[in-house]
Amino acid sequence: MTARPAIDFCDLAPSYISAIAPYQPGKPIAELERELGISGAVKLASNENPRGASPKAIAAARTALDDIARYPDGNGFELKRAIADRHSVAESAVVLGNGSNDVLELVARTFLTPGAAAVFAQHAFAVYPLVTQATGAIGVEVAARDFGHDLIAMQHAITGDVKVVFIANPNNPTGTLLHPRDVRAFLEDVPNRVLVVLDEAYNDYLPDALKADSVSWLTEFPNLVVSRTFSKAHGLAGLRVGYGLAHPAVADLMNRVRQPFNVSSVAQAAAVAALADDAFVEQSRELNRRGMEHVTAGLGKLALDFIPSYANFVSFRVPDARTVYDRLLRLGVIVRPIASYGMPDFLRVSIGLPEENARFLAALQQALSH
Ligand code: PMP
Repeated sequence: MTARPAIDFCDLAPSYISAIAPYQPGKPIAELERELGISGAVKLASNENPRGASPKAIAAARTALDDIARYPDGNGFELKRAIADRHSVAESAVVLGNGSNDVLELVARTFLTPGAAAVFAQHAFAVYPLVTQATGAIGVEVAARDFGHDLIAMQHAITGDVKVVFIANPNNPTGTLLHPRDVRAFLEDVPNRVLVVLDEAYNDYLPDALKADSVSWLTEFPNLVVSRTFSKAHGLAGLRVGYGLAHPAVADLMNRVRQPFNVSSVAQAAAVAALADDAFVEQSRELNRRGMEHVTAGLGKLALDFIPSYANFVSFRVPDARTVYDRLLRLGVIVRPIASYGMPDFLRVSIGLPEENARFLAALQQALSH
């Protein structure tokens, strides 16, 4: 028998798939500890909630474990009802996601095609180019202004092929925030054949005075999708649950593309309980506010530039970021290099518990004084 000719499987995938640069997640604690043979490492690399999750959410998740032989509710009835109540929208306006990343991907898969285009800002969240490229659509990156989104320039980038615009507010990894007035003006100017995704993953960390009234805009702008997550202030990153709010016709399309069981039963139960625990979110915001003051004061004392942040992390400039990152790792502190965001001179650190922040600052001082 003659051997079959070897196939280069990479040739089977469309070129726009093989060209995708893989997402680089924060280094897991267990991996660093294994590599260095150490224990007690601190991870400040993925903007997680250092307090963990609400005890009420954990209890609900435990109860839900009793029923894991059954498929989840594919319509997410209770969670959607809780989200709809919270935001005073119809349940038909809610799309549940396996994390809000899933919502971003659903938008792309529902509305983008090869040859179409999506607009996002330079230094914006890495998942926007990723989900765009996976559909074969073109990503149009618009130069940032002072590390934030330049909405005027983004407006000008909307040509006939553009179907989707992604806006992160606050943005990751820069922590920059757009004024609600400017986001609204953008929505008023965008042609209504273009969908605008307002990614508010870090919304819960904002003081009320800085929060946009984005959900109420949904009634005026049927081309708006607001996305939120339970991964940050609610502390459920490991369970993967987020949601999009949209015009019911848009939500309906996204729900057709969505896998019916994309949010697990345990995640749904935990999220319902987490959403009801406002005190936990409030305490998380307050801890973050104090931690941000502590960390930025420490960066200032080390004479390092940082980008003022409205989220639960801050990006700062260091000479030779890669070396500093490696030295921090050896000192048992994991931060995030952000060269892949076009910021090779910066590192991003998530705000942790007070003792984690202190440990980070001490390790950073040591790493810089080599
Ligand atoms: N949007 C932004 C701006 C983010 O930083 C993140 C998390 N890194 C997400 C969305 C997605 O988070 P998740 O999928 O956990 O909801």
